[in-house]
Amino acid sequence: MGCACTCGTGILGGVGVMAKKETTVEYTRKIAVAMGLGGWVIEETADPASEGCLAEIEPTYGQRHAKLSLCKEWDELPKEEQRNTIVHELVHVALASLTQLSYDIVESLDEGAVKASRAALNLAEEYVVDAIAEAWAPYMPLPGGGV
Ligand SMILES: [Zn+2]
Repeated sequence: MGCACTCGTGILGGVGVMAKKETTVEYTRKIAVAMGLGGWVIEETADPASEGCLAEIEPTYGQRHAKLSLCKEWDELPKEEQRNTIVHELVHVALASLTQLSYDIVESLDEGAVKASRAALNLAEEYVVDAIAEAWAPYMPLPGGGV
């Protein structure tokens, strides 16, 4: 016997075609928990990511909170690319305290050294984050599952 409920989720929520579509924030939360980052709150901003970026994440200093920005074309990206990008951004979250520490140390240098060191740190961080994310992403579910 079918469900007569019109709320969109069905009385038995999560059963078959009546399941609610998973949002990116819900998906990100699920992946964060799987990556051991369940204590973090990831908030999606209304502002799109910078031109040329699929997504960006900005951890809030001193808090287990981060703001996630997605590119304007996010919903059209292949699910694998969405998953890999979310894992990549969450690796940045996992490394946030080390990143902040390295930036704090660099800020104590003279102006010319700060600029060169920050650029080198950004590049080094991206290499490490990409390597970790590429290894981790295939073990994570794809977006679009029910919640
Ligand atoms: Zn990155």
